[in-house]
Amino acid sequence: MDFDAKRFRDIDPGERVLMGPGPSDVSVRVLRALAAPCIGHLDPSFLSIMDETQDLIRFVFQTANALTIPISGTGSAGMETCFVNLVEPGDEVVVCVNGVFGTRMSDIVNRLGGRLTRVDAEWGRAIDPEAVEKAIRGKSPKILAVVHAETSTGAHTALEDIAGLAREAGALLLVDTVTSLGGMEVAVDRVGIDAVYSGTQKCLSCPPGLAPVSFSAAAVEAMDRRKTPVASWYLDLNMLRNYWGGERKYHHTAPVNMIYALREALRIIAEEGLEARWARHLLNHRAFVAGIEAMGLSMFVPAARQAERLPMLNAVSIPEGVDEKKVRMALLRDFGIEIGTGLGPLAGKIWRVGLMGHSCCPRNVFLFLSALETILKTEGIRVR
Ligand code: PLP
Repeated sequence: MDFDAKRFRDIDPGERVLMGPGPSDVSVRVLRALAAPCIGHLDPSFLSIMDETQDLIRFVFQTANALTIPISGTGSAGMETCFVNLVEPGDEVVVCVNGVFGTRMSDIVNRLGGRLTRVDAEWGRAIDPEAVEKAIRGKSPKILAVVHAETSTGAHTALEDIAGLAREAGALLLVDTVTSLGGMEVAVDRVGIDAVYSGTQKCLSCPPGLAPVSFSAAAVEAMDRRKTPVASWYLDLNMLRNYWGGERKYHHTAPVNMIYALREALRIIAEEGLEARWARHLLNHRAFVAGIEAMGLSMFVPAARQAERLPMLNAVSIPEGVDEKKVRMALLRDFGIEIGTGLGPLAGKIWRVGLMGHSCCPRNVFLFLSALETILKTEGIRVR
């Protein structure tokens, strides 16, 4: 077969400022770590890199949980790991849904044969603990699941009250922190989260490809009490925990270089300090909102509900008469800035502007605001 290898050039994706819902910009330090020599996944040197990576994941999750590992796969693999290891057919599971990712959780529970109860909230709103209380009254769910930072709408759900309800009901609390981890407080042990997952490509500022997860002693006991085998071979923690701890038994070939990258991204976070990092996200978010409002535009989550706004994912309402795609494409073409559009019912209604991890800096706030102003004016839209 004739094959012209010369038509494939060196990869050159171009330079971008990543201000979408993820991935975020990756620091040169992390890229350098990715390029370190690949060694065997059972090499003693790699085993100690694994141990350090686990310690760093425990640090960002603020947990002492022994079962804390990065799953090979993106955030959705983390989501699936939590559910597939905890849910058996017929188990009662309550899922809070206020956007795309709560919906995805419900889909997984249905696929696993769990008995699903949904607590729905309007998209763009936080989950109301009262609605959760009502939904679980008289029930004894095994799991109560919630998305901490709903990336599809920019809504933040505070976890404390919901954690209290899970405790009272004797349910395990399962939390999605894909977008929140590294950008706002995720206090796994203090809040009482039993199963938690995240993704590398948002506020951790690492390329996509790993999903840090952590499980409390109560969650591990629930896994040990299972009557049926875990319905996924690849994500079965019974086997994965033998590789990450204990016997170091081969399960699948670890994505060695991605683990180097995650370790470096987490080391950068440890150097900055968690509190300083959360404060940086909040400060740049406030500057962003001030700029948007000064232009006469508005945030999708209104000012009256500031606590429900995410600092790292800013949902901006698209003004009447604006061709949202044209604006996004002009941002990319003329300024190299990537932002996201709305998903599901919010398609065409919001722009999603990320200020995550390495991308969360004053330079990007000002660059985005002035680029948007320039483009809207070119489009004949009046901005203040
Ligand atoms: N959960 C939330 C809140 C997310 O924002 C995302 C991705 O955007 C996911 C889960 C799924 O992660 P991934 O796309 O990395 O599989």
